[in-house]
Amino acid sequence: MSSAPAIVVTGPSGAGKGTLISELLRRLPQLEHTVSATTRERRPAEKDGREYWFLGPEEFELRVQAGEFLEHVTYVSGKRYGTLRSELDRIMRAGRVCVLELETEGALNAKRAVPGAYTIFIRAPVAELDRRLTERATETSTEIGDRLELAHRQLEQAGAFDCVIENDKLDHAADELERVVQQVLAPAATMDS
Ligand code: 5GP
Repeated sequence: MSSAPAIVVTGPSGAGKGTLISELLRRLPQLEHTVSATTRERRPAEKDGREYWFLGPEEFELRVQAGEFLEHVTYVSGKRYGTLRSELDRIMRAGRVCVLELETEGALNAKRAVPGAYTIFIRAPVAELDRRLTERATETSTEIGDRLELAHRQLEQAGAFDCVIENDKLDHAADELERVVQQVLAPAATMDS
């Protein structure tokens, strides 16, 4: 039995959370990513039920009213995002450890809602976030501006999380994330490594 039921990965948009999580899941197969629900538009490369459950605003609200969310937020874009309790149940029932990718407010709420959850903040300089979001080009320049403004506030919150990982070089950050998660999942076995 692992010592943490969930690993919560947070940080500003463009910090590389998604890329780092994909690499982490490849390395540690006992982990599984919860698929969040959102009201934002699907990007061309995304698939319903894989990156997100894409819901209309009415259906999202109905599910909020029904208490189906562990946590949910309205993001700077005005779009809603939330973690469905059913996702955690599914993964935990399979004997696996949940990995949640959340913005900072949701990450703090998830930490309160899931006892023993371990929170990891992925940090990158704002100039680098700007470069990555501009290069990714999945948002308009106004939306990128909003995400960067939010990033300034989120970076100030880094100290509220259990661990901070600097994503300056992707392979270094991926190694560090794996090391930290290994330690969280099996503290006694990896304490001195
Ligand atoms: P994006 O639109 O770039 O996919 O996501 C925007 C932000 O929402 C990212 O910081 C992402 O981590 C966060 N996010 C994704 N799913 C959830 C969720 O279920 N809950 C919360 N609180 N944030 C989420």
